[in-house]
Amino acid sequence: MSSLREILNQNVREGELYESIERNRLRCYACGHCCPIAEGHAGVCKVRFNQGGKLYVPWGYVGGVQCDPIEKKPFFHAYPGALAYSFGMLGCDLHCSYCQNWVTSQALRDPHAFSVPLQASPELLVRDAIRQGAKVLVSTYNEPLITAEWAVEIFKEAKAAGLKTAFVSNGNGTPQVLEYIRPWIDFYKVDLKSFDDQHYRQLGGRIGPILDTIRWLHENGVWLEIVTLLIRGFNDGDDELKKLAEFLASVSTDIPWHVTAFHSDYKMAETPDTRAEDLQRAAQIGKTAGLQFVYAGNLPGRVGELEDTFCRRCRSRLIHRYGYFIEEYRVTANGCCPDCGERVPGRWAEKFEGQIADRPFIPGRETNFISLT
Ligand code: SF4
Repeated sequence: MSSLREILNQNVREGELYESIERNRLRCYACGHCCPIAEGHAGVCKVRFNQGGKLYVPWGYVGGVQCDPIEKKPFFHAYPGALAYSFGMLGCDLHCSYCQNWVTSQALRDPHAFSVPLQASPELLVRDAIRQGAKVLVSTYNEPLITAEWAVEIFKEAKAAGLKTAFVSNGNGTPQVLEYIRPWIDFYKVDLKSFDDQHYRQLGGRIGPILDTIRWLHENGVWLEIVTLLIRGFNDGDDELKKLAEFLASVSTDIPWHVTAFHSDYKMAETPDTRAEDLQRAAQIGKTAGLQFVYAGNLPGRVGELEDTFCRRCRSRLIHRYGYFIEEYRVTANGCCPDCGERVPGRWAEKFEGQIADRPFIPGRETNFISLT
């Protein structure tokens, strides 16, 4: 029986985000590591490798699919209520010890992580997304930048079929990969994990490329929302949160910032869960920094009005949420407050069509994915 690595190495295609350097080595630009890769070796992510001086990248499979309410990604200002057909791949360029998707993200790094890849084509994924009633197709669960070529191939098909597209990403990008995906992407969520470069180095990255990605996405008109998973003792200090929020506000006070609750996971099983008061404190820091749309997530019903969207001018409530469920929706067809006419930053449907689901589900048996193992 083939190993997972052998299977993944057979499901590849030559990538586009690289250049040759000396002695049959090459440099990959799909993420901020910009790995120089010698012949016969893989990059930090373990899924892109140099064979014969060419870069080979994942192709023709997914690590899994799931239908999520778009609020779960989370996007609160992009087509509220839409179903987000979500696919993940395998591998990651970081190795966060608290990863909540570690079974797929660390599949080639951690022997305890194993996930069955499923054969897939852009046509199959888009057809299934439409059959489920999805409005958005999302590359998520692991880091989408490291499989950017495959995501773009799928997104081309999705956009031709009238779907919106999105990345849920750690934001460790490069100008090359961002230019590459720009024509094919509508929404982008960046997981801004900390505002301390030393913390990022513990996770296997650097903060610089992530901040550059946030600036680039905003300047280039990609709808952007930011999430910070609040972890007690790691990234929840007032000073760090203040710097983080002030940075976001310096890019744009329109950017929604979600502070979400950590629950014990993976190698941080001993770390206590985030409390509602921790989220409320972080949210207040965000508002004091000038951010207009700050949300608290993962503790439904326990964070007061921090699940709701308010008009920034007249403070009228526009969207009332409980977890992923939308209880009330009042944004107008042209994306404004119905009471005072103020524009609400985001991407809005002409009308709210309800929700197919307010919790995730796996597509049913009519979806014919074939296991590659
Ligand atoms: S995607 Fe990132 S980690 Fe993977 S090979 Fe390319 S630069 Fe390295």
